[in-house]
Amino acid sequence: MSASQQKSSASTSPSGEHYDAIVVGAGFGGLAMLNRLRKQGMSVRVLEAGTGVGGTWYWNRYPGARCDVESMEYSFQFDEALQQEWEWPERYSPQPVILKYLNHVADRFDMRKDIQFNTRVKSAVFNENTNRWTVTTENGESLSATFCIMATGCLSAPNTPDFKGADSFKGEIYHTGKWPHEEVDFTGKRVGVIGTGSSAIQSIPIIAERAKHLTVFQRTPNYSVPAGNRPMDPELQKQIKADYAAFRERENQQQTAFGSRFESSNVEILKITKAERDAIFEKYWQIGGLLFLYASSDLLLNREANETAAEFIREKIRTIVKDPATAQLLCPDTVVGCKRLCADSGYFETFNRPNVKLVDVKSAPIEELTPKGLRTGNTEYELDCIVFATGFDAMTGSLLRMDIRGRKGLTLQQKWAEGPRTYLGLTTVGFPNMFIISGPGSPSVLTNMVPSIEQHVNWIGDTIKDLRERQLICIEPVAEAENAWVDHVNEVAGYTLFPTCNSWYLGANIPGKPRVFMPYLGFPAYTAKCNEVRAKGYEGFALSKG
Ligand code: NAP
Repeated sequence: MSASQQKSSASTSPSGEHYDAIVVGAGFGGLAMLNRLRKQGMSVRVLEAGTGVGGTWYWNRYPGARCDVESMEYSFQFDEALQQEWEWPERYSPQPVILKYLNHVADRFDMRKDIQFNTRVKSAVFNENTNRWTVTTENGESLSATFCIMATGCLSAPNTPDFKGADSFKGEIYHTGKWPHEEVDFTGKRVGVIGTGSSAIQSIPIIAERAKHLTVFQRTPNYSVPAGNRPMDPELQKQIKADYAAFRERENQQQTAFGSRFESSNVEILKITKAERDAIFEKYWQIGGLLFLYASSDLLLNREANETAAEFIREKIRTIVKDPATAQLLCPDTVVGCKRLCADSGYFETFNRPNVKLVDVKSAPIEELTPKGLRTGNTEYELDCIVFATGFDAMTGSLLRMDIRGRKGLTLQQKWAEGPRTYLGLTTVGFPNMFIISGPGSPSVLTNMVPSIEQHVNWIGDTIKDLRERQLICIEPVAEAENAWVDHVNEVAGYTLFPTCNSWYLGANIPGKPRVFMPYLGFPAYTAKCNEVRAKGYEGFALSKG
């Protein structure tokens, strides 16, 4: 079917309809992929579980949700007019602004006609006879496509611990990653938040302002640095827009994975005095956010260096939090940055409020939910609302919750039983013509996601274009290339402190999940590697006429 034969409304697809490509998900990845493939004259159907576009920014509507990458950097660059016309009001964008931006993108490029909402994909099965993917939805539809592109996100399968008595609680239950569309009113209520990761750290200060009482159930304290959010500097915005392309290029070339304008200090922190160290940490603390990790070049390589940063943050916590016992409980003893560093707006200060209580659920874990609240050990906490800020089955969860089957009926669950295996984080042996945007084994969550997504989208778009021009219809990595890539991803991670803590990067937050470091720590060299693979005639891939 050619692009001109596409239907103008995407409310449903007649079963049996064939497309050049099916894209699963309408977040940043799905929208960019749709735009790119349509430009190549392909028929594309995007299947999206939500009622609107936005992905992460559609689902994570919890109070205080905000991006921890700066607005001027966390946006698409595929269209110059788009990046010129959009005005970002704050240094770090709140969720409603990013969602508005993505809706604007969908409208501006007339994308909705090719997106089918309210459509959760149940299965995707490769047919070796036809070289086509059959995708079935929970609504009972069945579509086919030559290419199947998973734009399902790295943090989109919410994790809700399976507490005893979960159904017995008579109050309201929320998950930060699946927040209701309508306003949640905590006024006059006793609220409990379970978890102290990024989502909790952003929502706790706002919930505390609204609730009658807030109890925070903390299993592991987290490092957090003030975000330093402020209104966008119009001069800076103007300056960047004057040559946005050069700005983006600099970002791509910089070693700073979060695509920031700020450079790493390149100081070896152990070679300077404590006073000099503290001055550097203070400077990065004042800059705000994740950039704190660039205070020294060896923070994530050397435990001793890392400990100096850890102690700097602990000292800040002790200074901010007035009650010494609460401050002590909030002080992490782990490696800074090993779990994703958090960026907050008044998180530690919130514990000075009289209506906020911190409860340690490491020493006395949550045993069960009860009709009135929850119980840890012998203590029952009476609550009107429980907020699960308990994170996600990251990187693989959204893929493995679908029934994806490749050659010879091999399921992705079987293939990845010991952990995800990909070539470049984009493809996996046995699953021809299936691409994963920001898949495990790609830099993804360790970078500024939007440019990383666009790099994947461009690589996939170029690859499909090449295949079609050469009248080839199948691309699949070969086992040796995939094995070498998996080994390389692990080897690089092994040089750092990342594997030393129980993070979601390692799947350690999900009981029974194989412990494998999932993202690739190789930005920006990764982009060069992907380009080299293409330049060498798709080295590591088998291409065929089917
Ligand atoms: P998370 O970082 O995985 O945090 C989950 C929290 O829930 C942890 O504190 C965890 O404790 C706790 N928890 C899980 N199961 C529990 C149980 N049975 N009992 C008690 N506590 C339990 O999840 P998240 O906060 O949603 O963040 C996930 C990622 O999303 C972030 O790391 C970040 O990459 C991204 N994110 C970004 C932003 C932003 O841009 N600003 C905002 C939100 C999220 P343990 O640590 O002990 O497991």
